[in-house]
Amino acid sequence: MASKTYRICSLPGDGIGPEIIAEGKKVLAAVGAKADVEFVFEDHLIGGAAIDACGNPLPQETLDAALSSDAVLLASVGGPKWDSTDPNAPRPEQGLLGIRKALGLYTNLRPVKIYDALAGASTLRPEVIKGVDMVLVRELTGGLYFGRRERFYDEEGAGANGAPGQRAYDTLEYREYEVERIARQAFEAARKRKNKVTSVDKRNVLETSRMWREVVHRVHDEEYADVELEDLLVDNTAMQLINRPADFDVVVTENMFGDILSDEAAQITGSLGMLASASLGDGVSLFEPSAGSAPDIAGQGIANPLAQILSAGMLLTYALDMVEEAGRIEDAVERVLNDGWRTRDIADASTPADHILGTAEMGDKVVEALA
Ligand code: NAD
Repeated sequence: MASKTYRICSLPGDGIGPEIIAEGKKVLAAVGAKADVEFVFEDHLIGGAAIDACGNPLPQETLDAALSSDAVLLASVGGPKWDSTDPNAPRPEQGLLGIRKALGLYTNLRPVKIYDALAGASTLRPEVIKGVDMVLVRELTGGLYFGRRERFYDEEGAGANGAPGQRAYDTLEYREYEVERIARQAFEAARKRKNKVTSVDKRNVLETSRMWREVVHRVHDEEYADVELEDLLVDNTAMQLINRPADFDVVVTENMFGDILSDEAAQITGSLGMLASASLGDGVSLFEPSAGSAPDIAGQGIANPLAQILSAGMLLTYALDMVEEAGRIEDAVERVLNDGWRTRDIADASTPADHILGTAEMGDKVVEALA
């Protein structure tokens, strides 16, 4: 009997989901056994699989299980089978949006790390990307994407010919508590890493940004003075992410800036199958690979499970505070890559055929490397 038990709600979803989540669970079980911790996995339906079973992409049973778990491990949802031209047909993505909303997830964390063995996949020069290891922290529930918006016709929108013209606006709004809580998530993440936060805003132009900077600094001075804090304007950040990416540790920003910068940062790695993510709120958190359900390769046993395995590592860090064990997973993944093992998507012309592994074999290699 292990000294501690955690209940993990496991949501395989669609496409390659069931194949890759099996490897995430396998690695968690192996790490748990060493740490005298037992993970009890409870599988539930979400997305297309749930639509097929009961017509609802997020069944109540799944929601209840997620809400009462210690953490949620999700694979991915969606696929052509559920693409419908009927606007009233249930869609797999509704399951994903629904669970994020129900869990109150207002923070998205995306790590961007360069593995030396995969540095060739980046479009940046090796000397620029050496040592890149950062986390983008994006606010998820406020800002332009959720503000008041409107589109209408009036005389101001008219062109020179006097015909009625369109106008549209979106509103960028933040409340103080929304900035406070995302700032805390960033500082907490920094304490688990290299203890540095870069806060990104557009203070020279936007009122929301002036408030953002003020609030981030107040939270820092009152609660996290031990963490190094720097401010950067968003346009400058876009340049510095390419110019000196290895200098960043935790980068925190509002919703739209984060949407854009996290894709830019992710592109530095060049390998989609390696990108993990975490979504945090004040209760149960959710961990999933950034990529989709890859229907083109589903069921073939060739999907790359490493993003899912690294998401399981993030679950240990951010949901269970098992930072040391999470580090062991990251080290194991690095070792497997350094030893030349690849799944098809991250192999290149120099990879010998006998070093290209299937999904389950890659999971086994990581478990071996943990030992
Ligand atoms: P995708 O990320 O599923 O696939 C893009 C390409 O990357 C494909 O060639 C795929 O084979 C490859 N790929 C992705 N993950 C891989 C892995 N782990 N190993 C090896 N190769 C991998 O994006 P898409 O094709 O645009 O979308 C497919 C479905 O996934 C759609 O229904 C989409 O809505 C859904 N989707 C879901 C999520 C999510 O669940 N969070 C995110 C994005 C897309």
